[in-house]
Amino acid sequence: MKSARRTLLSALAMVCLLVATTTACLKDDAGTGTYVSATADPRPYEQWLAARADIPADLALPGKFLTVAGHDAAKGPGRVLRYRLEVEDGIDIDARYLARAVHETLNDPRSWGGGRGTIALERVSSGDSSFTVTLASTGTVNSWCAKDDLDTGEQRVSCNVASTRRVMLNAWRWSAGSPTYGDDLANYRRMLVNHEVGHRLGHFHETCERSGALAPVMMQQTLTLVTGAATCVANPWPYP
Ligand SMILES: [Zn+2]
Repeated sequence: MKSARRTLLSALAMVCLLVATTTACLKDDAGTGTYVSATADPRPYEQWLAARADIPADLALPGKFLTVAGHDAAKGPGRVLRYRLEVEDGIDIDARYLARAVHETLNDPRSWGGGRGTIALERVSSGDSSFTVTLASTGTVNSWCAKDDLDTGEQRVSCNVASTRRVMLNAWRWSAGSPTYGDDLANYRRMLVNHEVGHRLGHFHETCERSGALAPVMMQQTLTLVTGAATCVANPWPYP
């Protein structure tokens, strides 16, 4: 029975890939409940966004996903894509602030949904949606990314699992950032969201063209700002 179900799901995934991304697919892949933060963070939002969190690097939770409640309207003009936001059960984060960070990032005038591109991004927590931004433990990110033969393990990075509806964000990276961004966690988090959602929207990796230039958001900035002899400046925005 299990393998038959898997075959059915694979077939469904194939069909989903053939139709427009606005079509809701793989509905049984949705989170199995509502994410409730253990505590509401007492800090102002900007302070929370800039502060390190305490999520272990090698955390490997069982992979149960919970949906962040609420709705955030699309802002920019263009074709509306709906997304869900989910957090892996066992990760403690203020979901209200996380939702704000993701949605404000994606709808910033410098981002994909901010009016410079051709799409608008709306957050939903029920009904049809095109993809799911998922904050998960390192172990769970690695196993989901492996579905598309993406090896995120060694560097503990994030990925877009294109054969499924999930954009996987590594919660440890969210909490700790990268050497390329240093203490600038707010901008690291914006880059992380814009880069991985950028993959979902069909964008591929780019490189640093010229020393001193802003790094393209689709450069793998978590790992490096250098391409050959050129060193770029960290940049979280698609349209800086
Ligand atoms: Zn990438």
